[in-house]
Amino acid sequence: MRRAGLLVWEAHQIVKRLIEPGIATRQIDKDVESFFELHGAEPLFKGYPGKKNPFPAVTCISLNDEVVHGIPSNRQLAEGDIVSVDTGCRIDGWCGDSAWTYAVGEVAKPAREMLEVGEGALDTAISCFGNSEMWSQVAAAISEYANSRGCSVVESLVGHGVGREMHEPPQVPNFVSEKTLIEDFPLRPGLVLAIEPMINAGASTVKDGGDGWTVVTADSSLSVHFEHTVALTADGPMRLTAAPGTEIDTWLGS
Ligand code: MG
Ligand code: MG
Repeated sequence: MRRAGLLVWEAHQIVKRLIEPGIATRQIDKDVESFFELHGAEPLFKGYPGKKNPFPAVTCISLNDEVVHGIPSNRQLAEGDIVSVDTGCRIDGWCGDSAWTYAVGEVAKPAREMLEVGEGALDTAISCFGNSEMWSQVAAAISEYANSRGCSVVESLVGHGVGREMHEPPQVPNFVSEKTLIEDFPLRPGLVLAIEPMINAGASTVKDGGDGWTVVTADSSLSVHFEHTVALTADGPMRLTAAPGTEIDTWLGS
C-alpha cells in the first residue's frame, strides 16, 4: 500500500506546483491523469458511479465553499481561493487515497486559518489513532478540536477503510453520535483507514451543488478537506500517503 500511497503523494506534488491564479482545474486533472498513466497506476475516481453520472475525472477539485467532489472543468483558479484536491490510485492491487486543501496565491486570514485548522484536525486524528482503544475517541478529538477553533465538522460525509478497494468498511466518521457509537470499532494493528476530516468555517450542514457531484456548504462558508491513508501498526500510525523518508519508510526498512 505504500507504493500506491507514494504515487498519490507525488500526484499532490504535481498539483502543488501547478496551482496558481489562472490555471483551469481541468489542466490539473489532466496532469495527474498522465502521471498515473505513466506509472501504470489505475485512477480510482474516474468512472466512479454517482447519482446522475459516473465521476468524469481522476481528481476531485473543490473551491472555497465546495466541500468535496468538485468536477474539474474550464473554471480557473483565482488569487485568494482555497482549493481542495482529492485523488487516489491503485497499483499492485492496493489503493491509496489522499486530499489536501491548498492556497491559491495570497489568501486572506480567514482562509489561512481554515487551512491551519484542517491540517490540525488531520494531525489530531492521526496522533489519537495511535493512542485510542476505539475510533469514537479519535472522532471525539477531531470534533472537539474543530469546535475549539470555532469551526464545525461535516457529518454527512465520512472517511472509510481502504485496501484492495478504495472504499471498504468501516465507515470512519469525524464526529460522535448515537448512530456512530453503535457502529464504533476497535483500533488494532493491521487496520488501514482513509482518515479525512472535512471542516467548515460556519455550520456543519452541506447541500447538493447541482451537478450531481459537488457538495457545498449550506451557508456558503469556506470548507477544507485533509486526508491521509493511514495504517495502524504495532509501532503506531503510519501515513501511507506522506512524503518519502517519513516514519513508514523507516518502519519498512526502505
Ligand atoms: Mg479521497
Ligand atoms: Mg477517501
